[in-house]
Amino acid sequence: MLLHLKTWKDVEGYLAKSRGIIVPIGSTEQHGPNGLIGTDAICAEVVAKGVGEAAEALVAPTIAVGMAQHHLGFAGSMTLRPSTLIAVVRDMIGSLARHGFERFYFINGHGGNIATVTAAFSEIYAERSLEGGSNRPSVKCKLKNWYDCASVKAISRELYAESEGSHATPSEVSLTWYAYPEAAQTMTMAPPVAPRGTFTDADDYRRNFPDGRIGSNPGLASVEAGKRLYDAAVQELAADYRAWVNAA
Ligand SMILES: [Zn+2]
Repeated sequence: MLLHLKTWKDVEGYLAKSRGIIVPIGSTEQHGPNGLIGTDAICAEVVAKGVGEAAEALVAPTIAVGMAQHHLGFAGSMTLRPSTLIAVVRDMIGSLARHGFERFYFINGHGGNIATVTAAFSEIYAERSLEGGSNRPSVKCKLKNWYDCASVKAISRELYAESEGSHATPSEVSLTWYAYPEAAQTMTMAPPVAPRGTFTDADDYRRNFPDGRIGSNPGLASVEAGKRLYDAAVQELAADYRAWVNAA
């Protein structure tokens, strides 16, 4: 149930039954030698669409560019600075809240978004608290990383163990290939498992992780794994969404 494929009359009808909406958020950034630039946005979008179908919930347009300054050393990567992303999240929620939406369930595909989106939620709550005495309906936001689902982590561990890593993982690459099988590119990585470590800005990242990966071997990705991960994430997040949106 994608918001952008509904009419305003449809949305008005939906609001009579539910005040919840799912917001996919990802990133547009390098994902190693065989991962798509859109990996994080694609993963969040396809999982959110599946959750929306399973839970009969509306899904907002994907926020496809996130906070990814550290990836700018690689061609095609884009970032919103934290202050810009906070403004985007505030304005999107503010627009939807005006129509009566009250529960905003973010499905996230990018670790670099977490601090900024959490700060955006705090800005929204602070604005309401400082106004005081408002009788407007409550607004509640929640952020879930699809890759942190217990069922997803169990599959990643079973299939990839120490080769999963933390960036350009075989799990996320598999999920994008499940969504777009024509993008699948199996290749041998050198070294097979990428280095691990920390980073600060884009130049520091490129020095430490020359092909873009961190601790992973996306050469092990497959469409079949992507389907298992998709099914697990959709099932777990749909149950979580339903329980959350129906709670007070
Ligand atoms: Zn990613």
